[in-house]
Amino acid sequence: MSTSSQKNDLKNLSPSELEEFIASFGKERYRSIQILRWLYQKGVQTIDEMTNLSKKFREELSRISSISTLHPLKVEKAKDGTKKFLFQLEDGNRIESVLIPDKKRLTLCLSTQVGCALGCQFCLTARNGFKRDLAVSEILNQILSVRETLTDQTSITNVVLMGMGEPLANYRNTLKAIELMVHPDAFKFSSRRVTLSTAGLLPELERLSKEKIPFRLAISLNATDEESRSRLMPINRRYPLKKVLEACRNFPLRPRERITFEYVLVEGVNDSLQDAKRLLKLLKGIPSKINLIPLNEAPGIPFEKPPEEKIVLFQEILMQGGLTAIVRKSKGAEISAACGQLQGKQRASNIDFLQQQG
Ligand code: SAH
Repeated sequence: MSTSSQKNDLKNLSPSELEEFIASFGKERYRSIQILRWLYQKGVQTIDEMTNLSKKFREELSRISSISTLHPLKVEKAKDGTKKFLFQLEDGNRIESVLIPDKKRLTLCLSTQVGCALGCQFCLTARNGFKRDLAVSEILNQILSVRETLTDQTSITNVVLMGMGEPLANYRNTLKAIELMVHPDAFKFSSRRVTLSTAGLLPELERLSKEKIPFRLAISLNATDEESRSRLMPINRRYPLKKVLEACRNFPLRPRERITFEYVLVEGVNDSLQDAKRLLKLLKGIPSKINLIPLNEAPGIPFEKPPEEKIVLFQEILMQGGLTAIVRKSKGAEISAACGQLQGKQRASNIDFLQQQG
């Protein structure tokens, strides 16, 4: 939980804002670099621990600034090793993060908002409506807090902004958080290992195309025609598929970089052979790879996932057409940690699963 909210939380500042803040004390730039390292590499929880700053400066800093922290209320572990962390924020709101082990990777899925306003019909996060944006510190503290639970031999290799919320609807804070994730004096993640997933907010995609901060882009496509996409994702009425793809086509990519398109397979809605063929056509000319996500079913979600044969066939058509298409295995479904299942709620029936990190 955060502390001393009236004070300036150092974790809400971008590297340049921190530099400016430090300069207001008459301090040199390298002091801000030292602070970044304390905050994000060593993960200190108090300013007083920053022992390469003078005692006087630490005292001055502490008078007007603080460092927030976040501690998990609960950690659940699924049989496949996936862990779900439930966090309570200072105002009592709750969010979740999911840690997903997979061969050589350890991926952390972060939330960027409390709830979500987009109302995708297949996603539970939307069910409770939208509460508020997360602060930069609340996004970053998910990484720091989860990292604390790991042993020295393991580290988070990838970060995906695919948890609760629409990252581009919380544009400024999300981008500041990403800047710190890839900053050499902060988290130092390779930009290839940080992925932002969006339902495709057009003005923000446009703005994003001009950003200098590097990371990977994923688009939740989920259908191949306007009508089915609007049925699944009401935001499509405002930002239609055609325009989203046009924005992707114009999106500046580095050499060999590709956009990931997520495609939740929903029985009878978007899983036909025609859909697969249309998808091939739609993505022509866009360096892309496809993540097929068989729908994670849940009570209250009025859809089903397609039978296995249909999923395989869909994938084969894409691959025959020359696209890289991966079927994403559902992870952590029995603890409601899979895509579209995060609600920030404690569930009553989880006796079978570890309630503490294990
Ligand atoms: N708002 C962002 C990020 C959160 S959703 C976005 O839309 O991209 C992360 C991914 O989970 C999206 O691709 C979404 O389509 C997928 N998803 C949501 N609910 C799902 C469900 N019930 N089953 C499978 N995937 C789901």
